[in-house]
Parts: sequence; structure tokens; C-alpha cells
Amino acid sequence: MPTPADTLLNQLPGLESRFVKQLEKEGLTLVQEILSWYPFRHEDRRRRDSFGFVPGPVPVCHHVVVTKASTRYFGGRGRGAFEAQVQPIGGSILGDLLTLRWWNMPFMNRTIVEGMELFVYGRIKDFKGRLSIDHPEYEILKEGDEEAASIHTGRITPVYRLRGGVTQKAVRTAVWCALQHFSGLLAEDLLPTPSSQGEFAGWSASRALRALHFPEEQAELDQARRYLALEEFYTYQLRVVNRRRSALNAGGQVHDCQGELALQLQAALPFELTPAQQRCLDEIRHDMSTTAPMNRLLHGDVGSGKTIVAFFAVLQAIESGAQAAFMAPTQILAEQHYENARKWLAPLGIEIALLTGNRKEVQSGPLFGKTRPQLLIGTHALLHQRDLMPDLGLVVIDEQHKFGVAQRARLIQKGRTPDVLVMTATPIPRTLTLTVYGDLDVSTIDERPKERGKIITKVRVASKHQEAAEFLHAQLEEGRQAYLVYPLIDESEKLDAAAAKKGHSEWQKRLPHFSVGLLHGKMNALEKEQVMRDFRSLKHEALVSTTVIEVGVDVPNATVMYLHNAERFGLAQIHQLRGRVGRGSHTSYCVLFVADDDEDAKQRLAILEETSDGFKIAEEDLKRRGPGDILGRAQSGQGSLRFPELLADTRLVRIARQLAERTLDQDPQLNAARFAAVRASLLEIDLSQAMMQ
Ligand code: ADP
Ligand code: MG
Repeated sequence: MPTPADTLLNQLPGLESRFVKQLEKEGLTLVQEILSWYPFRHEDRRRRDSFGFVPGPVPVCHHVVVTKASTRYFGGRGRGAFEAQVQPIGGSILGDLLTLRWWNMPFMNRTIVEGMELFVYGRIKDFKGRLSIDHPEYEILKEGDEEAASIHTGRITPVYRLRGGVTQKAVRTAVWCALQHFSGLLAEDLLPTPSSQGEFAGWSASRALRALHFPEEQAELDQARRYLALEEFYTYQLRVVNRRRSALNAGGQVHDCQGELALQLQAALPFELTPAQQRCLDEIRHDMSTTAPMNRLLHGDVGSGKTIVAFFAVLQAIESGAQAAFMAPTQILAEQHYENARKWLAPLGIEIALLTGNRKEVQSGPLFGKTRPQLLIGTHALLHQRDLMPDLGLVVIDEQHKFGVAQRARLIQKGRTPDVLVMTATPIPRTLTLTVYGDLDVSTIDERPKERGKIITKVRVASKHQEAAEFLHAQLEEGRQAYLVYPLIDESEKLDAAAAKKGHSEWQKRLPHFSVGLLHGKMNALEKEQVMRDFRSLKHEALVSTTVIEVGVDVPNATVMYLHNAERFGLAQIHQLRGRVGRGSHTSYCVLFVADDDEDAKQRLAILEETSDGFKIAEEDLKRRGPGDILGRAQSGQGSLRFPELLADTRLVRIARQLAERTLDQDPQLNAARFAAVRASLLEIDLSQAMMQ
């Protein structure tokens, strides 16, 4: 029996050849291809009675008739507008008039003429009682074509994002004909059984596809989208779970030991681990002591104390005779970890080396001598030093959201599979971790060490900088330190640097009795490092910086952060930045400066005044901006999702995961015929991520 996959568009009964030609020109030949051209919105064209034209911010759809069409010119030079006056069709209220206006498009007078019926879609504006829509989307209805009318009107009508010379009518008619022709089987079912029970009872891939294009009701459309999203997430989870299972079977190393070194470190630390840190550490230790390679994400809000937990893991690897590598996304951060390691681990007799692009240093003994370092700390330059690590047993990757999956794979592939611990402070809502980090086990440090000062956050208008300077002055007098941050402009380090330099000279003038340092991305690594050292050792009381300080920097004496042009930042990013203060016992202050009249920004940033819970903020970001931003560029597997906004639907993601686990329990090789396409793409997830690097 022919299927949409092996039927040509020109074999489709009822589809006029002029439509076929349009579509073929855009490279579409199969019915299958037209069915997977998903509509991006729908218009409810059922309602024949009109409630009249109502101005408002939301675009609306109206069925209208053109009563007058003319071109008006304003002030010469051909600047003019083509205007069509329209009235609603069906229950029209006398005198209810709307003007459709196209600026500088006089040729519209050939397209739209008096007496014509149209569907128009757009935002209605009210200018002194005169209602209009500028450049509406429109569709012309031709009279006397009953068949066509039943496709394009009188129903919830799909609207497609067009490309090339294809018209709305061509796509819609082709889809319609396909649905008529293949009344039974439009698509094969990939999902196993959810359709037989619960919310998807009675659903199938075919029904979902049909309802996605031509739904009877809005609710049916919503459910169709959920069904197809579930199918898509399921496919994705099949790959993730499969990858996770093969990683577990790869054969790793057992890191078991008495824990002597850990005891020594604990004795030397001035604080106890929090219960949450302890729980995460136990989970890590358990993973490390089994044969299966560890693939764990240590997830914890800024300042929750991930580094020290990782150090304990490092000790377990070293005490059992292996080497450990500790990778950071930036040089500044690698330096900082190195300083910490020298402080905490070197006294236990551990040999530590720092390896970054610019600096190679061993804490004792020659780098290439007989003794090999037990702990190597560095940026991704470490990836090229695999020969220094013949006994690599543990890899710690800090701030994974800046680290590519492919880079991770590179370190892991050579030799035996080491244990891997990935750390991130990006607070990712639970459902997204299932997707973004779906192949990792997750440990979450969900509390912060107690003896921390509060962080008070305020949104302020930029014109208040005088007061701000006075406040800052008082804080510095008390011996505290401050970050003065300037934003990313157009992703350009050069412009950033310029803004920061200007800010630097302003602040230095405002704070004549203090030393203000400057840090930006255009400085070379050695310069940056020097500035950070000077800041840490209190040579500078204040530091003007671009967002290079975003990740991980830890200077507990810094208690003030001023963020200029805060409106340019995402909530999650500000939360990260804010995490640079509030690391000591003093009360800290984070002030977010926005332009005086930017009400939007004030409203958006208000949540940061209310909460310092990174997860809440991430949820809010997720709601406001959709998952794209949070998933980020580093995780590209999602780029191709057709319903990414539904990733915020916790239940759906969970169902997809459970179904995938169950499927792989029953059919580990995915041998069933319906998985042919999935099988072929099992490796794709790695490749697509690798290509992003
Ligand atoms: P992050 O999780 O953001 O990477 P860090 O690991 O840099 O945080 O830790 C932040 C600060 O908290 C460091 O100065 C660290 O020494 C300190 N710290 C870590 N754990 C504790 C604890 N249990 N009690 C008190 N301070 C801690
Ligand atoms: Mg950190």
C-alpha cells in the first residue's frame, strides 16, 4: 500500500498542478515532506459573527470585505501609503471601519481591489478613534470555489511559515489533499503504549499529525502538539539513555582506598562540609569505587562549595594510585583552583601541576622528571597533555556549561575510561537536566554554607550613581572590596573593553583615595592574572571588569557589586555574577543599574531583589525566554527539536524518559523495525555536539 513516504505530490488527487509546481520549485516532491511542514500558528476562522474591530496589543484575525481602496501621498518624494478600507463580514456593525495600510507599496493597488473578501491578521491600532493595521498578513478569498473555501475558511485554519515562491494556499491545499487521500495511515507509530492509556488514550501518530494541521478544536491542537513533542523527546531520550548505558558498560577503574588523605584534609579545613556537600560526596565516592565509570554532574548554586567536594574526589583517586585532572574554562579560574590546591592539597604531600596556555608550573619537582604530577590543573590546554597523564583516573570539569561535550569526549576516549565529574553552577530546572545532562547522574548541593552574609540586591536607575559612589566609598573605608561590572556589548570584546576602560577612569575619579583595577577580555592572560592577584591581595580595593569575572571567581572580602546596564543581562547570568559577592561573612550588596525609563527591565529584574534561589530564577528565565537560552549553544542536540517550548513541560519529559528506559530494557539494541531511523541516528548526538565546538 502506498504511504506518504513513497507518494509523489503530483500523484495526489485534487492537488492542482500549479500548486505542485510551486512546491517542486522549493524542492518538495513527496507527500511526506509536505506533512512535516508544520504550521507555526492557526487562525480561528470559524466565527462568522463579528464583534467589531477592537484595538489591542495582540494580533487578531478578521474576515472582511474591501469597501474602498486608494493610495495616499504624504509630503512628496513618493512617500505614501496604499490604504484599503474594510468592513467585517457577518453580523457587521454599521460604521465599523478598519483601515489596512501598506507604506511605500503603491503596487498593492493591483492586488487588493474593492469588493474583495480577505482574511486579515495583525495588531489593530487606535489613532484618535481611527482604527488601522499596518502591513497586515492577509489572504484573498476567491468567490465561487466551494472546495477551496472549505479548506481555507470556516475552520481553525493552519498558517505556515512560507519560503521561496510558495503561497499559503499551496501548502494548505497540499496538506489538505494528503489528509483526504491517506485517511487512515499518515504516519507510523513510534511511541510504545502511552496511547492506550491516560491522557493520550485514543491518540496515534496519524491522529496527531492530522490534528496538528487541521484541528477541530483548540484543545485538540494542544494535545496533538504534546503528542508529537512526546514522540520527539522519546526519540531523543532513546539516544541519551543508550549512550548512558554504553558508557556504563565501557569498563572503568575502581578507586577504592582507606580515605587517609580525606581525613587529613577534613582535619585541616576550617569548616565542616554541609550535609548537602557530604551527601554529594558520598554519591561520588560510591561511583568511584565501582567498576562502572563515573559520569556524574555536581550541580549546585553559586557559592554552594563545589570545589572542595571535588578536591575530596581528587584525593580518593590519588590515594588509590591514579592521577587526577582538573579543568576550568578560563585561565583565571584555573589559577584560582591551583592556588586552592596548593593551600589544601599540597600540605598532604600531593604533587600538583598547573598547565595553562601561558604558564606551566609544578608545585615541586620537575614537570617532565621522574615524578609525575598527581594532580594536573589547567584550562582545556590540558586536553593536549594526555601523555603526562598515563594513569588518569579522574577528570573534574568545572563550569561545564562553558565546556564542550566533544572536548570532554576527547579526554575520555584515549586509554582507559576515567571517572568524570562535571560541575556547573548554572541552575538548571530538573526537567532540563534530564535532557541537557540526560546521560549523567546528577548530585545537587541544595544548601549554602551557613556562616554566609546575606546579599541584598536592588534595582536602581542609572542617574543615582552619585549616591552609589558614596555608599561604595563607605564600604571600601570599612575594608571591603567591590566589583564594578560593565556588560557584554554586541558580543564584541573590543567594545566591552572600551566601555570598561571608560568606566574605569570614571570610577577612579570618583574614588580618589582608593586603587581601582581594570580587567577585560582584551588583556593577555598574564595581565589578567596579575590584576586578579592584586585584587585578591587588596592592592586594589575595587575592580572594574567586563563579564570575564563571571564564572567561579572567589574573593570572600568583596561585598559590593555594581552592575551597569543590567538590562542587557539575562536573569541567570546576573545571578551568576552576583555570586561573586556574599562569599564571606559580611553582608553584601548587589546593585543593578538600569536606564531611568526602562520600566520593562525594572520589572524583569525585580525577581532578583526577591530571591537568591538560583533554581527559582532559572524557572523564571525558562518561563520568560523558553529553554533555548538555558540550553545554550553548548548543548546542540536540542537545536533540532520542533517543540522546544514544551521542554518546560515536566510531565512530558519524564514520560519520555520512562518510556525510553522501558524500551531499552526490552529491546537493548533497538531491533524493532520501527526504530530503524533511530538506530541510524544513535551516534548523531555525539556528532552534532562535536560540530558545535
Ligand atoms: P562554587 O560552588 O560556586 O564553586 P566554591 O567552591 O568556590 O563555590 O566555594 C565558595 C566558598 O565557600 C569558598 O571560599 C569555599 O572555601 C567556601 N566553602 C566551601 N564549603 C564550605 C563550607 N561547608 N562551609 C563554609 N565555607 C565553605
Ligand atoms: Mg566554582
